[in-house]
Amino acid sequence: MSKLIPCLRQLDAGHFTSGEAIAERLGISRASVSTTLARAETYGITLERRHGLGYRLSRPIEWLNTSAIQGELMPASAFSVEVLDHSESTNRALLAAPQHGRVLVTEWQSGGRGRMGRKWLGTLGGSLMFSLAWTFPEGPAQLAGLPLAVGAALARAIEAAGVREIGLKWPNDLLLPQGKVGGILIEMQGDALGPAQVVIGVGLNLYLPEGMGPLDQPAAALEGNGLNIGRNVLFGRILAELERTLPRFAAEGFAPLRGEWEAHHAWHDQPAQVHMPDGRHLQGIILGVSDEGALRLQVEGQTRLIHSGDVSLRRQRA
Ligand code: ATP
Repeated sequence: MSKLIPCLRQLDAGHFTSGEAIAERLGISRASVSTTLARAETYGITLERRHGLGYRLSRPIEWLNTSAIQGELMPASAFSVEVLDHSESTNRALLAAPQHGRVLVTEWQSGGRGRMGRKWLGTLGGSLMFSLAWTFPEGPAQLAGLPLAVGAALARAIEAAGVREIGLKWPNDLLLPQGKVGGILIEMQGDALGPAQVVIGVGLNLYLPEGMGPLDQPAAALEGNGLNIGRNVLFGRILAELERTLPRFAAEGFAPLRGEWEAHHAWHDQPAQVHMPDGRHLQGIILGVSDEGALRLQVEGQTRLIHSGDVSLRRQRA
């Protein structure tokens, strides 16, 4: 992986670039370019190779670029963005040094995580996989609605980028009608009374190559679903929305964002099952969410509040 991204960055989809030119620019041998690019397909990148001409990408890739991302932020933004070629997990790296406002975004993640030890898979050049550190003066107890507040900010930025059907699933997923397009993972440090140092991790599919997987649920991507801006601008605008939303959440909690979250609620009034950590299932109709970000589920005529913890929500099909 260490040479693959530098080699791929030398290529485009418009014309062929010779192995010799790549080798010269990177100060490596032609043989090394050839063995490195032979591995591209295992990362979902397809290349055309033409004898005597070199290599061409089958589809263009907009690589992450710090100044293009930072250009979308306010001049006095609290965010400082670091672009990595590879990270085992941006959440894990940031938890080791969670300075307020630090953002890590990576082209490739080998150990991306979801909740409860699940995996998050990304696409080289086709995902946004990032984490940001934010310190909240209050303790963790005040932060139950944070995944929902982050989801509302993401949905706002994605909708403004042309994707009309972006939806939210409690507590931490972004959906399109075809499947899951993004996930949020919040981890924190600090004692019960605060301040809480929080790491907010996000994985978002812009593009899904054929044969990515294996995934145990349908996945979807923003490209082809209305997305009308590039990867760097989208990421910068997502950060800008988060920078507006996080101080507001710190001051006022989730309640002012609840209406916006529910306007994007993908499974509103739908029958669903809540899978409890002890293996039990609770069946009901999803009514929406509370001011604190708990799920409101109608079970046998009563409204029950489900707090996120280790529960999972699954749709119940007729
Ligand atoms: P929950 O409703 O409990 O959040 P979840 O299965 O959506 O359940 P998460 O922890 O949010 O769990 O996300 C991890 C899951 O997301 C994986 O188990 C896999 O099913 C799915 N997944 C992983 N990578 C992707 C991806 N790139 N696109 C869509 N889905 C993915």
